[in-house]
Amino acid sequence: MSFVKLLLDWYAKNARELPWRSRQSAYRTWVSEIMLQQTQVETVIPYFEAWMVRFPDIKSLAVADEQEVLALWEGLGYYSRARNMHRAARILVTELDGELPQTPEALQRLPGIGPYTAAAIASIAFGADVPAVDGNIHRVLSRLFNITIPARSTEGEKIIWKLAQENLPVGKGGTYNQALMDLGASICTPANPSCDSCPVSRDCLAFEQGVQEERPVKLPRKKGPHYLVTAAVIQRDGRVLLAQRHNNSLLGGLWEFPGGTLEEGDANLEACLKREIQEELGVDIRVGTPFGDYKHAYTHFKITLYAFLCELLSKEEPQPLASQALEWVYVEDLEDYPMGKVDRLIANRLAKELTDGELPG
Ligand code: SF4
Repeated sequence: MSFVKLLLDWYAKNARELPWRSRQSAYRTWVSEIMLQQTQVETVIPYFEAWMVRFPDIKSLAVADEQEVLALWEGLGYYSRARNMHRAARILVTELDGELPQTPEALQRLPGIGPYTAAAIASIAFGADVPAVDGNIHRVLSRLFNITIPARSTEGEKIIWKLAQENLPVGKGGTYNQALMDLGASICTPANPSCDSCPVSRDCLAFEQGVQEERPVKLPRKKGPHYLVTAAVIQRDGRVLLAQRHNNSLLGGLWEFPGGTLEEGDANLEACLKREIQEELGVDIRVGTPFGDYKHAYTHFKITLYAFLCELLSKEEPQPLASQALEWVYVEDLEDYPMGKVDRLIANRLAKELTDGELPG
């Protein structure tokens, strides 16, 4: 189809300047592709640059401590991405001389590398002629070919990958993938695509029929649940208690203020928190002043978290019954412990109130 020549000509003049493109290597492509999963380019850029200063190559990542890897990732979300990359770097160093393999099949055997990421690395870094269909390409092809079934359905996915493959120009897989990505990011945007300045509008079936805003056809959206959650800021001798989440859980390896989800049998939030702390730490607490409520949306559910300043009543030490470690941490040291967004907000408020002299002892 003639759109490919127009697309590549446009890309030759309009490719986005991105830090992972300025100096290309398989490692830089890998890191950028992992960071870009579910995350906007503008958000990724400063993380990518900081990462490359600290971990300039696979070897430096492999020997790093996991807590440091997670700390550099803090704020990007989906932390299993960082842990998987760390594990993969160790495998590469011990089994493959510290080099990434070049084929999509071999790349997919590494932790955290799925079909898309494998195809992106193989095509961009190693010149393989394989399509890599990310969200942008998905949208562009749905419009160019006016796909009328839900693009994320199994059938829709099959059609789009097939179209991406059929139109891929021999010997130019990496450029073709990146050109489609850039077209989707800068012209064929999710809302209000700039069809008037689009280099391939001549060949775009959705544009021809005036239905570009209705493509890709979406799957009916399922509404996720909303949980009410409590967290305890348990203070002792100027320190607060943090629990480290199990590696295989959501936000695995990160630190948090202990607590849990309101259940049907809980009379109120305070009762919920006392129960959770007894179950998770094996101790009793007095629940004191509320310390803010925090809303957060994860991919499949939402939470509102209510934090409370708490005091330990039991003489025994808390036990990590539902976490992999517990630590008493000085408020001024909280920044050294990688956390999810909500727990970081609580930690920042604690640090601020300590500085302002408002934190009850
Ligand atoms: Fe997208 Fe419009 Fe270009 Fe079609 S013409 S590819 S809808 S920007």
